Amino acid sequence: MYESETMRYFSRELLDWYRVQKRDLPWRRSRDPYHIWVSEIMLQQTRVETVKPYYERFLSLFPTVGALAAAPEEQVLKAWEGLGYYSRARNLQSAAREVAERYGGRVPDRKDEFAALKGIGPYTAGAVMSIAFNRREPAVDGNVMRVFSRFFLIEEDIAKGATRAYMERLAYELIPEGEASDFNQALMELGALVCVPKSPNCLICPVMERCAGRLAGKEESLPLKTKAKPPRPEYRACALVMGEGELQGRVLLRQRPAAGLLASMWELPHVEFSEAGWPAAIADEPLGELLSERLAGDSGVAASPGGTLGVAEHTFSHIHWHMRVLRLTASGGGDLQPQAPYRWISAGELENHPLPNVFIRILRDAGFMQ
Ligand code: SF4
Repeated sequence: MYESETMRYFSRELLDWYRVQKRDLPWRRSRDPYHIWVSEIMLQQTRVETVKPYYERFLSLFPTVGALAAAPEEQVLKAWEGLGYYSRARNLQSAAREVAERYGGRVPDRKDEFAALKGIGPYTAGAVMSIAFNRREPAVDGNVMRVFSRFFLIEEDIAKGATRAYMERLAYELIPEGEASDFNQALMELGALVCVPKSPNCLICPVMERCAGRLAGKEESLPLKTKAKPPRPEYRACALVMGEGELQGRVLLRQRPAAGLLASMWELPHVEFSEAGWPAAIADEPLGELLSERLAGDSGVAASPGGTLGVAEHTFSHIHWHMRVLRLTASGGGDLQPQAPYRWISAGELENHPLPNVFIRILRDAGFMQ
């Protein structure tokens, strides 16, 4: 692989640096594998500062695997509201239920058993096994691949499975005996604080002296990665239907299907248009009337158009929503029960109805929630 002296240098310098410089993060105060597991799932595609309050609140609501397993799914989604990538929360709860049933609520300390749980990929399995149980397991994610590409001057595409497999073997070799927990966290910390994607801070890096990427002047151009496809655009006209009369203070929501994107979450009703039909829809068509007709057919709610409120944009991992938001009003004549999956919801009842971020923003902008 590489000269053993270089590998020893890297591991030793990195560990020494970490033990002095490491951040005091809430999940670093615990060795409970459930706590580490929750933190690793939350940290996927999400910044540390964003995760902190969610982590504390989630564990106060669901302090054990058993508590999470027994909770209603909507409560778990509500605790996750705003973090995005909601399949993470659903998978976490499914896996917690399996741990409760199969292992009596104790997180398995064998990698094959843990990795077989729902939502656990190779990185998460390695991170939890090493951090919680100090097992010699690599935990290689994009940050670690960036550090390795630069330090070892690996000019291979990190989007390829073969490159990842190679780096996992390298990470395994680098873990010093009995130091897996600190070493893997040190690697993550270096990638997060020093060897950052743009403009790495080489001058304060503990391994700068022997960093082959830096010595070759390639620290900014590594790692090599083929570009992911841009998210697919989707076009939607969205109805903010406010109640009047007996429905005063209520907004019409509907629940998404139990499978697929944003499964089981609540949303403002909306209608999708094709890319070709969208310009005409927003330029010429009476969008409010069209929404009103659809709503009457789908939910039984008679609502009158009240003009355009604005636009909203949201990117999921592989889809980008372009939305135009229109206000409608419905007096309803006292009918509080539209057809399922529609429901009239007061601001207070939002507590039990998890919503994706894009709809929270629309409801906040409209002054319906804080
Ligand atoms: Fe990254 Fe620079 Fe350190 Fe090399 S010297 S590992 S490029 S921060």
